[in-house]
Amino acid sequence: MATALDIAKRNPNAAPVAVNDAARAAGSTALSIEKTAEMHVAAGAAPGGASLVGLTRDQLKDSLSAIGVPERELKMRVAQLWHWIYFRGAKDFSEMTNVGKELRARLAAAYTLARPTVVSEQVSKDGTRKWLIRMPSTGPLDKGAEIECVYIPEVDRGTLCVSSQVGCTLTCSFCHTGTQRLVRNLTSAEIVAQLIVARDAIGDWPGAIAPEGAFVPTDGGRFVSNIVFMGMGEPLYNIDNVIDAIGVLSDNEGLGLSRRRITVSTSGVVPQMERLGAEANTMLAISLHAVRDDLRDVLVPINRKYDIKQLLDACRAYPGLSNARRITFEYVMLKGVNDSDADARELVRLLKGIPAKINLIPFNPWPGSKYECSDWERIERFSEIVYRAGYASPVRTPRGRDILAACGQLKSETEKLRARARMMAEQGIGAEGVYALGDGE
Ligand code: SAH
Ligand code: SF4
Repeated sequence: MATALDIAKRNPNAAPVAVNDAARAAGSTALSIEKTAEMHVAAGAAPGGASLVGLTRDQLKDSLSAIGVPERELKMRVAQLWHWIYFRGAKDFSEMTNVGKELRARLAAAYTLARPTVVSEQVSKDGTRKWLIRMPSTGPLDKGAEIECVYIPEVDRGTLCVSSQVGCTLTCSFCHTGTQRLVRNLTSAEIVAQLIVARDAIGDWPGAIAPEGAFVPTDGGRFVSNIVFMGMGEPLYNIDNVIDAIGVLSDNEGLGLSRRRITVSTSGVVPQMERLGAEANTMLAISLHAVRDDLRDVLVPINRKYDIKQLLDACRAYPGLSNARRITFEYVMLKGVNDSDADARELVRLLKGIPAKINLIPFNPWPGSKYECSDWERIERFSEIVYRAGYASPVRTPRGRDILAACGQLKSETEKLRARARMMAEQGIGAEGVYALGDGE
């Protein structure tokens, strides 16, 4: 039986910080860095309880052992299942023609190849797709966590924005996910399942075809070629599951995504950055958003634990950096808050010596948010200063505006937000935080 773990136990760094301690540390009175995780979930549980989809090789091995497959056969059987599940996208054990009938029957009696439920799919005029995905319940306290996953197609790549947690224990003041009460880690299987769901929906398996009229890359590559961990949650507070998931996503005998096309975005969990580099070796994105500690303490409160200097030192130490392998610095444009010329010049100064890309993200407002997006002229002026310092095309075109697809601002009060998006679209203002990231190689 899997043990119940909570976020704080599993990740010492994610231990909730009492409001008062945090406030004391910051010399302020009101804001907290983190809130307490509210749900418990069995570690390593597959979506669907008994579904094999999303499992690591070790978990598959255990599942086979449990139905009596002898030790000497395990490696070969895992390889077979791996191929069917992750290379071919099999949905039924009967497809597994090189697995004997008797074993297929035993597998089908004990397990499924079920995917998490797609509650809704929205397709934007620009081809961006957003799925609301419900994970199966993991126990009596869990109604089935809902997360969103966004697909952003371009001509030469397709980027999937995945979630690593339901909600987020952190409380960045401009981020809607940070206001959600419900928080739990996604299992590695639930993270991987987001790609499986996406590939099912866009016909990205051998022999499958894209739905009619779908916008998918036309360069002959995979429909999903890049993954960004920019959905809900702080990936480095769920690092064990994120690393396991990346292992499955990048396995060459299965899903086969290059680690160079997987980008993990963090608000700055400094102690885990080295481990991410050493064990997952993915691209890194940093949610910087401010160039002074006093402001970053408010926008990204984890800054009170790990300040800008510590964060940038950890960036400099990230393995494998070069001009061809840069860290992406995300910078959300907040009107009158962090968008001055002086901020832009300081940003350039701070990043000196770090192989960096800068992504200026127009703030994506949500009901009740206390910030506004900077004016376009301001964003242009800011980007010009950054551009003159040698950083090319830093403002990304918002995607999926009509369906309000937004990485970093997922699964919220959908109806209200939709109404607001319509209003903004009518007025021609506002922007979303969805950007296709990650380098083509
Ligand atoms: N927790 C991680 C990854 C998820 S957030 C992190 O913070 O990096 C992905 C990105 O979306 C982050 O850069 C985040 O700061 C940004 N973001 C969050 N809310 C946003 C909003 N309302 N508008 C624009 N970007 C937002
Ligand atoms: Fe969490 Fe990232 Fe949102 Fe901050 S920006 S609250 S770390 S999801």
